[in-house]
Amino acid sequence: ATPTSIMVGTGRGAELGVLFRKGEALQLLRDARVVAVDKTGTLTEGRPALTDLDVADGFERGDVLRLVAAVESSSEHPIARAIVDAAEAEGIEVPRPGGFESITGMGVRAMVDGRRVEVGADRHMRSLGLDVAGFSPVAERLGREGKSPLYAAIDGRLAAIIAVADPVKPDTPAAIAALHGLGLKVAMITGDNARTAQAIADRLGIDEVVAEVLPEGKVEAVRRLKGAHGRLAFVGDGINDAPALAEADVGIAIGTGTDIAMEAADVVLMSGSLHGVPTAIALSKATIGNIR
Ligand code: ADP
Ligand code: MG
Repeated sequence: ATPTSIMVGTGRGAELGVLFRKGEALQLLRDARVVAVDKTGTLTEGRPALTDLDVADGFERGDVLRLVAAVESSSEHPIARAIVDAAEAEGIEVPRPGGFESITGMGVRAMVDGRRVEVGADRHMRSLGLDVAGFSPVAERLGREGKSPLYAAIDGRLAAIIAVADPVKPDTPAAIAALHGLGLKVAMITGDNARTAQAIADRLGIDEVVAEVLPEGKVEAVRRLKGAHGRLAFVGDGINDAPALAEADVGIAIGTGTDIAMEAADVVLMSGSLHGVPTAIALSKATIGNIR
């Protein structure tokens, strides 16, 4: 491509809310084969709500919700907001926790009223030596419904299964259809539960799912998808996404994301919409493709 065509494409992109931070990205996008997308906050709103809370025998729902909300009141994860909001909506006075700890990609723990409370994914419970099998039928149903199951343990005993659901953004289905229309494969990368991720992917017609990845695992997933499909663009919004944005051939950050994600990205979608991705690729094909 000529410097002029890149200038024209970059200028047109700016008009459309697609900021090319590197001219090279415009060229590379033309021959992209796969678009890998972070789930939470990119495909979905990133604002989950609590939908279910089933307690184990010997536990009381209100009591469990109060303890769990206390732990989550110290966490910044979107899941935490959902749980604290639900407790407050039920008129529960949420106490302050002590000795709060966050275990990346797993869950959180703290002391509340002298009780040791753990909240997190099934793998977090397993790492504590707790067996979640008793909740399997519930977890399977929640996953099929596209909800994310979490577990709570109190003083070393499994106390509850909790679910949160994060709605898909209204413009996500059309953006995925547009990417398919351009001949690209779409993959989802997420730290969420595999069954939940697959249910959401099925609804959206997403071609491939990489689930239950720890933040550092996103880079590995990007590398593997590049090897399998060829040139790859990764779309993300969060702090956890910066290494994957850097590893991709083209890193695309959603404009509503974090500063760290913006800095790691080659392209920034100012509109905050996934629609910017097919727009950027179509623009690349139009401007770079027409050079003679
Ligand atoms: P993602 O946001 O893509 O799900 P994270 O690495 O942030 O990825 O989290 C992975 C998983 O760890 C979550 O899906 C959840 O099961 C668990 N988790 C993380 N933080 C919390 C929290 N504050 N409360 C409960 N579970 C959590
Ligand atoms: Mg995210």
